[in-house]
Amino acid sequence: MIQRLAILGVGLIGGSLALSLKQKGLVGEVVGFGRSYSNLQEALNLGIIDRATASAAEAVKDADMVVMAVPIASMRELLVEIKPYLSANAVLTDVGSAKGCWVEDVCHVWQGVFPAFAVPAHPIAGAEKSGAAAALADLYQGRKVVITPHDASDAKSIQRVTHMWKATGADVRHMTVAEHDATFAWTSHLPHLLSFALVDLFSQREDVARLFDYTAGGFRDFTRIAASDPTMWRDIVQLNAPAIAEALAAYQAQLADYADLLAKEDWQGFSDAFKRAKATRDTFLPPL
Ligand code: NAD
Repeated sequence: MIQRLAILGVGLIGGSLALSLKQKGLVGEVVGFGRSYSNLQEALNLGIIDRATASAAEAVKDADMVVMAVPIASMRELLVEIKPYLSANAVLTDVGSAKGCWVEDVCHVWQGVFPAFAVPAHPIAGAEKSGAAAALADLYQGRKVVITPHDASDAKSIQRVTHMWKATGADVRHMTVAEHDATFAWTSHLPHLLSFALVDLFSQREDVARLFDYTAGGFRDFTRIAASDPTMWRDIVQLNAPAIAEALAAYQAQLADYADLLAKEDWQGFSDAFKRAKATRDTFLPPL
């Protein structure tokens, strides 16, 4: 049971967490902090938060769980703001899509000493929508949440963050920060980059409207994630750049191999590659 939950950034991710915990009766009071008055008002109207404030200091006061759910590029500034006001029994956690940057931000703000009560986390759930109005109580049901404890995070705080996420119905996993950032560079950041790149390429063509007129399900599936928030994705690319660069280089090499097969008219090579890809997808992501 959380007595007072502070949600800093009441959008899709923070709002869904608050809704889920409230619906399950696992939180006494939810205080929401944000920079958009209309979004906080919407969160109040939808019953996501019990109290809204435009002051980060006020939001974290007496909170025993503080969840940072703002864009990852805004974390450091907000950490500076809340640090003096965190209560002695507070657990501090985040939901950012890259974890190394949050650890760096926390270390920076705590002058090189990562505090025992801080526990980085990342829910692997989302949507192309944003803001409190997009929040869903069951967003995390059956979805993975990756907790990446720092060596300095203490067992009690790790357990409280783990319990909080388990209560939403999530499948909670633990891994290191480095493992997290490398893994999600491949499984999430690279696919988003590729999807944005394809639509961006189309956008620069004179016949863009005609091409879109002839797109079908395959194009729609491949580019669904290019409708994601551009600022959020710019931040992720910037703050997980080394791991993304590694995955992108491997993908470029793969495309170069395909270009080579085309140039050599090696249709058997394509057949082998596509069979390998289909078998791998069918094994690990079986059709529903
Ligand atoms: P969102 O836009 O729905 O919510 C973010 C909220 O934070 C908004 O209400 C916005 O008004 C507020 N905000 C923005 N900057 C702020 C600041 N400087 N101070 C205070 N409030 C601020 O975004 P979201 O999808 O909920 O993403 C939030 C976090 O969750 C990001 O760190 C993102 O990396 C992470 N995340 C997103 C997804 C996804 O698919 N959307 C998935 C997993 C994790």
